[in-house]
Amino acid sequence: MINHITVIGGGTMGRGIAYTAALAGFEVTLQDISNEAIENAREYIETLLNKNVEKGYVQLEQGTDAKKNLSYTTELSEAVSQTDLVIEAALEIMELKINIFKQLDELAPAHAILATNTSTMSPTEIAAATGRPDQCIAMHFFNPVHRMKLIEIIRGLDTSDSTVEVVKQVAEKLGKVAVEVNEFPGFVTSRMNCLIGNEAMNMLMEGVASAEDIDKALKYGLNHPMGPLELADLVGLDSRLRNMEYLYHQLGEKYRPSPMLVKYVKAGRLGRKSGRGFFDYTNK
Ligand code: NAD
Repeated sequence: MINHITVIGGGTMGRGIAYTAALAGFEVTLQDISNEAIENAREYIETLLNKNVEKGYVQLEQGTDAKKNLSYTTELSEAVSQTDLVIEAALEIMELKINIFKQLDELAPAHAILATNTSTMSPTEIAAATGRPDQCIAMHFFNPVHRMKLIEIIRGLDTSDSTVEVVKQVAEKLGKVAVEVNEFPGFVTSRMNCLIGNEAMNMLMEGVASAEDIDKALKYGLNHPMGPLELADLVGLDSRLRNMEYLYHQLGEKYRPSPMLVKYVKAGRLGRKSGRGFFDYTNK
């Protein structure tokens, strides 16, 4: 039975997972190593709650309860001392995830399930850093978490049936649709989405069409709800580049990151989070 969820990393994904879990009635602790990230996450969550109460999407009482359900800290040991489920949403760097999981294994209660929100990486490799690989799993959420319905659930080699079952129940309580995917780099969604996005960036680089027209073509011609360049800006171009680099190393040439993506990240154009990526957000 899951009562308390700890979210590791208060960035784009972590804050969304914390918001959604608190609103669904879980007790939630959000942990990040950066005080600034914690303060930004708190502000994001409270603003979103207030806005959604104002608009009538969330009942006033539910919003108040969600705020009460949430706590924030930079201390990992404090964040996991009472937890039943940890969802790690730190950067997409394997060494970092392994290091976090080693600490989680030492600090979290023995019964706790340890999940990663990795977009591409092997839950088996991450679980191998712990003494409880049967209780490790990937729960891949989508951005923005409160709006996107899917959670991809990826079983590692030793993940137990009961861990899968518990995580599916959590997904249901969060109001999400779960799909179970066998472990393979990029799973279903990132493998597909990274290729589409990369092709769009290569077309932009080749001068095939403007960023606006590439996105319009996929929205109105192929019925995608968002253009691939707009979506990459939402994901964060630094995060997307890490995904592409991992898939390139695992799966080969097809996933070589577009030089345009590499150049934008070098320039600090990271998408919405930095105010500019393929599109400009400074006035929005
Ligand atoms: P982000 O850069 O927005 O946030 C990452 C956060 O992790 C930062 O606040 C950082 O301070 C924190 N952090 C770094 N090291 C830490 C540590 N040791 N302990 C605790 N916190 C730490 O990244 P993001 O886009 O939210 O991505 C997080 C994870 O979610 C990645 O694995 C990514 O691949 C995955 N993901 C991202 C998206 C997306 O659309 N951005 C979608 C699905 C999955």
